[in-house]
Order: sequence, then structure tokens, then C-alpha cells
Amino acid sequence: MSDVLYFNGRFTTTDERVLGVEDRGFQFGDSVYEVFKFLGKRPILVREHFHRLERGLNRVEIPLPWDEASFQTTVRELLERTAFDDGIVYVQVSRGEAERAHFWPDNLKPTVVAYSRAFKFPDAAKKERGIRVITTPHHRWHYCSVKSTNLLANAMAKKQAQRAGADEAILLGEDNTVREGASSNFFVVKNRRLVTHTLDDCILPGVVRDAVVDLALSAKIPVEERPLREAELFDLDEAFITSTTQGVMPIAEIDGRVLRNGRRGEITMRLQELFDGLEANPK
Ligand code: PLP
Repeated sequence: MSDVLYFNGRFTTTDERVLGVEDRGFQFGDSVYEVFKFLGKRPILVREHFHRLERGLNRVEIPLPWDEASFQTTVRELLERTAFDDGIVYVQVSRGEAERAHFWPDNLKPTVVAYSRAFKFPDAAKKERGIRVITTPHHRWHYCSVKSTNLLANAMAKKQAQRAGADEAILLGEDNTVREGASSNFFVVKNRRLVTHTLDDCILPGVVRDAVVDLALSAKIPVEERPLREAELFDLDEAFITSTTQGVMPIAEIDGRVLRNGRRGEITMRLQELFDGLEANPK
């Protein structure tokens, strides 16, 4: 399947093999990425994604290849060349290509990649039915606030979930706290309050997480940002994950334990409506 590809300042397609084997993104996972959604060719929450990319690149000392205006121009040109209206854009910036050595040379030119791809977002039935999750230890590196391509631990957790007949793995810290999903953020509702992990290096600051926290507060739903203890998973009213591709997705089952007889929770549904509304009518 061929997609429109932006590579280091020019447009081509994913049929072209563009990357060098000594690109540090390939050899060291030395790169930062973003995924955002577009609907009717309109990118969703794109400024928020750009700013997270900027923060992540700063944190790992890779130069930012765009300012916000030139990023928006690249995205616009990419979507103009794209044959479909709805999908995702994948963006990756690596430190660049250099003879393999852990020490990177100064003044490397970052490798910049972006492509658009069709994506099947969850339909109304799936949004009502929700997903199954398993819990598993969190083995990723420490700077989880950086959307790094070091995703092997997450890919393994996700595969473990799939083999168990589940959709997502919820990652547990060594201190028995509940962190985030392998590719999502995690929320519970208890006594009509939302609880989700504090923004720190243990989780990715999800763009949808932030939007949902703001929407909840505007709807007068209290939000507690704190690490949830694993034991609290046995005493909750509702649970859901958030991510760019899944939006607000109810959790129907944790480690084989069915929640609420498989019925979607009221607050989860309200937040789904509010978030879908935000995507349909952005600020
Ligand atoms: N946490 C991790 C580890 C992720 O990989 C993702 C998305 O891929 C998220 C959280 C959700 O982030 P966002 O809402 O920005 O898609």
C-alpha cells in the first residue's frame, strides 16, 4: 500500500526506500514521533501535537526541524496530496544519519519523515462495547513523557495483550501504581470523580488525555491527577483509555474481570460525547 510521504523537505511515496541503514532512528531508536488524526482533511489538535513534538525533541537534544508555521504548511501540503479525507499522519524526527557510534557527532542533520494513512477509527458499536485490557509490568525507559520510538517494551506488552484476547495492556509500575496503556492513557471513575496518572516521566502527556481533563473540568466533573494503586482496579465504577486513534474508549474487562456487566459507564459516555464534539468542532 503506497502512501504520500514527506521526506527531508520533498514529497514522494512510501514505495521509495528513503532511509539509510545508519540512521540513528533505526539503530538506536534515537528519534521522536507523533501521530495525529485528520477528519475531512482537517488535522485534529495539531498545535498540541506539534508542541509535544517540540518538547520531546528539546528533551533529547534533537534540533526541531520546523517552526509551528512551517509544520502547518508541511501538514497542509501532505493532506492536499492525500487521496482520502480521514486518517492519521505519522511524523518522525530522528537525530540523523552517522557512522554507528553511541556518541553522536555534533551538528547532525535530523531525518524528517511524515506520511498520511487511512485508518479505521472505532465505530459507534465499538465505542459502546469497549475493549478488554490486561495488566502487565511497565518495562519501558524512564523518560516516558518523550514520545520516543523506543517502543519495544510497549510492543511486547501489546502482543501479550493480543495473545490473551485483549486489546490493550495497562502498564504497572514497580511500586504497584497504574501508569498508562501501551499506546494510550488510562482513567478510572470512582464516586463520579476521574482519576488519572500525574503528568510526569512515568507517562506520555497524551493530547487526548489533556483534552479530556479540560472537558471534564468544564463539565464540573472533578479530576484527581495521581498515581492509582493497583488495588484500586478492583474498586472502581468505570474505566477507559484515551488516545488519538481510539478517542475515549470504555474498558469492559480488566484481566478477565467484566466491569459493570459489560455496560458502558455514564461518565465515560458523557466524555465520549464531549470529545467527539471537540473533534467535530475544534476551537
Ligand atoms: N501513552 C502512550 C505510551 C502512547 O503511545 C499514546 C499514543 O500513542 C498515548 C499514551 C496517547 O496519546 P495521545 O492521546 O496523544 O494519542
